[in-house]
Amino acid sequence: MRPVDDIRKKLLIQRRNLFRQVVQTEDELLWLETDVESEVEERGQEEDMVRLLDRLDGRAKAEIEEIDRALVKLEAGQYGRCEQCGKDIPQSRLEAVPAAAMCMACAQAWETRAALRK
Ligand SMILES: [Zn+2]
Repeated sequence: MRPVDDIRKKLLIQRRNLFRQVVQTEDELLWLETDVESEVEERGQEEDMVRLLDRLDGRAKAEIEEIDRALVKLEAGQYGRCEQCGKDIPQSRLEAVPAAAMCMACAQAWETRAALRK
């Protein structure tokens, strides 16, 4: 298995676990279970996803957006690069937080700025 496939799988599982918290019907569960394998999103499935997204709280939604962004970067060959400083994010950090968009230093600076804005 290529490392990229491995990371993608990890991200998709994380994403699925977030959605699983708000699943209420069997149909939705079914959608969730098949989503990991199929990359084609059909119309009905997309509606399911919108419905589930609506039920998630802000934090979970932000996490899913982060995961989606990491998946896009993975496809583009940009995965693992800090979005702020452009340096490589250390492997240990990516293992702990596969969806990390920034290196530790940038993430901390960003959080500090976000806290100051409150
Ligand atoms: Zn950085």
